[in-house]
Amino acid sequence: MLPENYFPYPGYRRFQDELIDVIYRSEQLLCSAPAGAGKSVSALCGFLADRSEKEKIVVLTRTKSQGRIFLREMAAISQHVNEPFLTIQLRAKQELCPVFRDEETSYEEFVQLCKLKEDCPYREKFNENIDAMEELAETIAVENYVEYPDLIKKVSGYGCPHLVLKELLRFCDVVVASYLYLLNPFLRSMFLSKLDASMDELLIILDEAHNLQNLELMGRQLSLNTVNFASEELSCDFSNVYSIFEGENSELDVLDFIDYDEILFLHRSGVEILKERLSKGKKLSYTFRVASFLSGAAQARQEENWIFFRQGSKLHLKPLFPSEAIEPLKEAKKLLLMSGTLEPLEGYKILYGLENAETFCIPNIFPRQNCAYFGIKRGLNTGLKSREKFGSELWKRYAATIKKIHRASPKTGLVFFPSYEIMREVSKYIDALCESSDGRKTDEFWARLRNKNKKIVFAVSGGKLSEGVEYTVEKDCGKESVIGSVIVAGFPFPVPDFEMEIKSRYYEQKFGCGRAFFLLSILPMLNKVLQSTGRAIRSECDKAAIIFLDDRIEYFRYFPEEIRHELQVCSAKDIAEEVRQFRT
Ligand code: SF4
Repeated sequence: MLPENYFPYPGYRRFQDELIDVIYRSEQLLCSAPAGAGKSVSALCGFLADRSEKEKIVVLTRTKSQGRIFLREMAAISQHVNEPFLTIQLRAKQELCPVFRDEETSYEEFVQLCKLKEDCPYREKFNENIDAMEELAETIAVENYVEYPDLIKKVSGYGCPHLVLKELLRFCDVVVASYLYLLNPFLRSMFLSKLDASMDELLIILDEAHNLQNLELMGRQLSLNTVNFASEELSCDFSNVYSIFEGENSELDVLDFIDYDEILFLHRSGVEILKERLSKGKKLSYTFRVASFLSGAAQARQEENWIFFRQGSKLHLKPLFPSEAIEPLKEAKKLLLMSGTLEPLEGYKILYGLENAETFCIPNIFPRQNCAYFGIKRGLNTGLKSREKFGSELWKRYAATIKKIHRASPKTGLVFFPSYEIMREVSKYIDALCESSDGRKTDEFWARLRNKNKKIVFAVSGGKLSEGVEYTVEKDCGKESVIGSVIVAGFPFPVPDFEMEIKSRYYEQKFGCGRAFFLLSILPMLNKVLQSTGRAIRSECDKAAIIFLDDRIEYFRYFPEEIRHELQVCSAKDIAEEVRQFRT
């Protein structure tokens, strides 16, 4: 069947037919297309049309809500073509377990607790029902579940929901899971064996692929506090563990400080503590946490792509190059990396080691005249030199310029700062609704944020208000954005620290001179800016001014073509007037 035959809606969105076609034809594709372009359904149609019966589509997402979109689209496709597809979203064991529901328990502790619970009744029930899995798979495919709780209710009747879902994987047409199932080498072999498929029998969609830039989700850390708690928990000598924390920031080899037998001893002791606590209801052990981190660091010595280092009062274990983590996925029959903010695509090709991949970019699906871009000539930037030179005078200038722009715009202004610290400094001189640094948002905050009353909202680039948040109200024509302007109050470059220093050294070696700054600083900065500015226009009827209050205009050469061509660079005193004229 051709991809268009799977398409379940009456008409295509702008550029969507081209998008489906390029997805269908490409083996490896990097695609940047804004929210609302219909990426998820397009990817599924293109992949279903190119798939043979034994092959499986695997969709990797960062959040559950992103995963839910694919479940809904598959349900719509299945209904449209009148064919049952088995689509399963595999969520973490910890989330599905009906026995242990302790938010404090770490993932490793949870896995250990599950092992220790040998008499788990849900596991026993699953073992009794193992032969019923094929029939269950057929029923689920026919019943075409859209809502996850309904699916979990159904599978729970067959025992431990996680074990049932894992067992159903081999019957699946489409699996939605978190990135780690294919990026983490240990989970990958389990996942492939449960799928009963080899990598070349998979068609992989990596959604919101900009998230793979720093592989934060795969990293781990150990704090001195955890070791202090562990030494209170287990009366034995922790001096070797403490010695790893002593000294300057440095890249380390864990076995220079502690030998493997001692790590194993700590691990066994941690398991004993967990076992003892299991009966008393407390389900964590600091000794176990310390041991599991250290054994991870010892194992990572075999892997070239991992760095182990001391920074401040913490130890860190982190992957180095996204390209190495993605490398095994290049064996897949099809590989699609997509996001609304994957620009410049050529930069991500280098970072992700996909030099031979095709690229496809949809710049904007809404009328160009609905958006205007303004830059500032001089006098404002959040770079270190500028902060040292002007001190609080700089924050007063930012506040004064933001106020003027806000007066010139008829709707709410959303202002993104590079850090909470800068946001707090500027908020001393202007009355604004500020994002809280712990990410907590009360119902009242949401209600104020989303209502149509004009206001200034202060947020942080890369924070909770900059990605995946809709600032819209319902209207007859659909939804309407409450935002009239987005101000980027300083380019959000990552703060240089020891980790950046180590990575820069390795990146220069691997990618060549001068590339480290581009890959480690410019790409993440640009991604945060594009995520923030993407909040403004969410439908055909929306109109917004995007203002960059940072005079380091040399960085605009890395920005998407639309911004580079439409950008009007003005002086601080004219910028508000330009915004007013655009809005009238
Ligand atoms: S087998 Fe399933 S239900 Fe039982 S403890 Fe493990 S995860 Fe929980």
